Amino acid sequence: MSTIQHLINGEFVADTGRTADVYNPSTGEAIHKVPLASRATVQQAIDAGKAAFPAWRNTPPAKRAQVMFRFKQLLEQNEAKISQMISEEHGKTLEDAAGELKRGIENVEYACAAPEILKGEYSRNVGPNIDAWSDFQPVGVVAGITPFNFPAMVPLWMYPLAIVCGNCFILKPSERDPSSTLYIAELLNQAGLPKGVLNVVHGDKEAVDALIEAPEVKALSFVGSTPIAEYIYSEGTKRGKRVQALGGAKNHAVLMPDADLDNAVSALMGAAYGSCGERCMAISVAVCVGDQIADALVQKIVPQIQALKIGAGTSCGLDMGPLVTAAARDKVAGYIDAGVAAGASLLVDGRNLKVAGNEDGFFLGGSLFDNVKTDMTIYTDEIFGPVLCIVRVGSLEEAMQLINDHEYGNGTCIFTRDGEAARLFCDEIEVGMVGVNVPLPVPVAYHSFGGWKRSLFGDLHAYGPDGVRFYTRRKAITQRWPQRASHEAAQFAFPSNS
Ligand code: NAD
Repeated sequence: MSTIQHLINGEFVADTGRTADVYNPSTGEAIHKVPLASRATVQQAIDAGKAAFPAWRNTPPAKRAQVMFRFKQLLEQNEAKISQMISEEHGKTLEDAAGELKRGIENVEYACAAPEILKGEYSRNVGPNIDAWSDFQPVGVVAGITPFNFPAMVPLWMYPLAIVCGNCFILKPSERDPSSTLYIAELLNQAGLPKGVLNVVHGDKEAVDALIEAPEVKALSFVGSTPIAEYIYSEGTKRGKRVQALGGAKNHAVLMPDADLDNAVSALMGAAYGSCGERCMAISVAVCVGDQIADALVQKIVPQIQALKIGAGTSCGLDMGPLVTAAARDKVAGYIDAGVAAGASLLVDGRNLKVAGNEDGFFLGGSLFDNVKTDMTIYTDEIFGPVLCIVRVGSLEEAMQLINDHEYGNGTCIFTRDGEAARLFCDEIEVGMVGVNVPLPVPVAYHSFGGWKRSLFGDLHAYGPDGVRFYTRRKAITQRWPQRASHEAAQFAFPSNS
């Protein structure tokens, strides 16, 4: 079993402290050990970032962007290897792993536009012989803490943009599937990034607390579950840091009576069961407006769930792999037990699935509940597994009220042919990312990603234009150069143009 290393100041660094096991969830075997960094190791990474910052901050944005162009090429050349690494530790299918990498690469492409993004704002003659402009300057050493479910894409939401904006970055990846994340960071160093600009330290709460408490770390980006997001937001902002902390979700899909049912069912299958439901944008609730569409949905979707092709993520042509750990599988199975006990109708039961040849893998089949009520834990909680709940309502207004009342507001979608219904939904729904006949409305890299309510703590969304604002500080400069030297009398009234 090999031991994974940290990447600090351009070098691999072994650690002697605590470790955790990393599993191949398809076989159930522990395949690596990952170090859990001490405060001293985290400080080493922070020191490396701090030392690299003055030169990197003054490197022209066009040169910073050139590193990202080379990085993009290396990512594309290594797509098969990276997908294999993701799949081996996360369990998602190879095709799904390649998909997340491609969405991550889109963020690198956006970062390649650094000279354009950082042009700033300029106004000539805001007063007599006075010009004003806003500079967008880097924040300093910034840190990112990322979840297990997108080991390639979510880190790529953060550090390419932070780095082209002139910052130095400390990444603390998920300790459950760190290998692809580390390999990708190594590729950025190979692309010519100066030492210390990107550092990777593995770890758990101790490492995260060290990043929160270090005065040199000026901003924290977090993606993960809501309780940890809330903790990091409150502890970070208390210390005067910028924090954007993206949390959990419960994403509803509304099926209107006029929906194109075949396409809606295909969309729901991918969005509910893709990646074993371990996506923050996974659809976990289908809200059916009227019994007719609910009955038709059940009739069409049940056989498709029963026919899901499930096996080792690293095999080709599958629909679903295992869950990430035995604990994750047992937690999801526990929710299914609770749903049955609460009286929901379990139409497809994914518990007790055994995959031939992979009997020790962390597998569950797809599950479907009908007649789910809003006080059941399968409705209130983020299950983060392959479980879809059907809730039946009488009207679009009732469906929207249900969604607006939920504590999470990450993503949602509506399936309809009615433009008026779709427009009302987009206008009034209290959710950060909305799809119309699009089940996973994850914004492209040149928009920004973020939920509302308890799905995001902080003012700015991740990546895209909001990401640029998060990773830079605005400095407004007002400058006067009189055309010819002349004495000006003191003015005691507040200066204005009128
Ligand atoms: P998690 O909250 O368990 O872990 C996320 C990160 O926090 C990891 O790096 C982990 O090491 C660290 N961490 C864990 N416990 C900690 C503690 N007590 N103190 C400090 N740090 C701690 O989340 P996960 O299980 O890796 O990921 C799944 C969750 O992430 C789901 O809730 C999912 O919805 C959410 N997620 C949200 C988004 C989004 O954009 N909103 C995207 C992906 C995942």
